Order: sequence, then structure tokens, then C-alpha cells
Amino acid sequence: MNSSFLLSCLIGLTLTLTACSEPTSPMETNDQHPEQPTEKIIKTDAEWKALLTPTQYRILRKAGTEAPNGATYKAFNAQKSGVYYCAGCQAELFSSKEKFHSGCGWPSFYDPSQAKNVKEKKDISAGMERTEIVCSVCDGHLGHLFHGEGFGTPTDKRYCINGAALLYVPKELPETKEQSAPREEE
Ligand SMILES: [Zn+2]
Repeated sequence: MNSSFLLSCLIGLTLTLTACSEPTSPMETNDQHPEQPTEKIIKTDAEWKALLTPTQYRILRKAGTEAPNGATYKAFNAQKSGVYYCAGCQAELFSSKEKFHSGCGWPSFYDPSQAKNVKEKKDISAGMERTEIVCSVCDGHLGHLFHGEGFGTPTDKRYCINGAALLYVPKELPETKEQSAPREEE
């Protein structure tokens, strides 16, 4: 056995490990703000399967839920100003302006940034009555909406969203009055 054989084994092992870690990979990010869909996106199950990662497919198309406090949540907490688009159809859903820290283990927003793209549906699964949140452009499942938890946000709502259902694109957003910081240059 020579050293180059050992090296190629190591590279192979690393690639295998990287591929295996896909389901918990951080929320997808992009440098480019996607073009906004102008009409409803309708695809077959096979088309969605081909387009999405297995995790995104399970969440968006099968109303799955990602594990709390996972890699997508850590990535979300580290993200600064930016816009969150639907990972299925790229419609704008939320922005960092409505993001807040709830400590629940999933990305939390108190309001959508594009209300027309975020739809509420009654969900009676799992023996509870909850409000499901779906993307109104592609009908992808995003998460659930909770009211009146006392987080002290302007709406007292918590849009509890699966990070894997979101596509984050960094962007300098206009500062609000409360958050405006002094400019450094004169
Ligand atoms: Zn969508």
C-alpha cells in the first residue's frame, strides 16, 4: 500500500461523510436575489422530488418538521440583514426585519415581509388544532403560526418556520428608526 492510495482512500471517506451530512446541512444561501414568480407554481410530485433536496421535499411537500436546534437554526441565528425566500419557488416570504429570537429551536418571525405569499391553513394533525403556514405561490409547507406567547414583538405572533424551507439571501435592508446606528463617516 503506498501513500497515494492511502490519500485517495481518505479523500473518498471525506466525500462520503460530506454526502451523508446533507439532511442537516445549513440553510441554503445564495448571493443573487431570485426573480419573483408572477403566477402560481404547480408541479408534479416527481418534479418536486427532482428539484428539492430530500430534506426540503419532506418538509415542503410532505409537511415534515426538521429537528429543533439543528444546523439550519444555527445558520439562521448567525445570519444578519437579508431576505428569506421559499426554497421551493423562490417567492419572498420573510426578512431579517421581522426575525426575532424565541429560543424555540426553529427560525422565528413575527410577521411575513410579503404577506400575500404566506397563507394560513387550519391543521388538525397530531391531535392538536394548529395554524399551518404555507407558501401561497407553490403551496409548500413552511411551519406553524402561534399567537399570544408574550414575546413582546409588534404582533405577538410567532411564525415558527423550518429553516430548510427557506432560501436566505443577504441584503442591506433600510434601517428602522429604533435600530438606526450612527454612521462612522462624516
Ligand atoms: Zn413557495
